Amino acid sequence: MSRNDPVFGDGFDRPVCPNGHTAWTRSNGHYWCHDCSRLHGANPEFDSLRDPETGDRIDPIEVNAS
Ligand SMILES: [Zn+2]
Repeated sequence: MSRNDPVFGDGFDRPVCPNGHTAWTRSNGHYWCHDCSRLHGANPEFDSLRDPETGDRIDPIEVNAS
């Protein structure tokens, strides 16, 4: 896992997975959460990150443009 993802850079709150984790990684157009993978019944793969403050979905294109 890269803690210094160049897409998000410094000073940007790290987006979270739908279950509020920050232990996700990016691969081939989707995301995979390490913490979710350890939870029974949780799907560790997801398509969009969430803003940790508002819980809003963060569109991948929007993130790339910032
Ligand atoms: Zn998670």
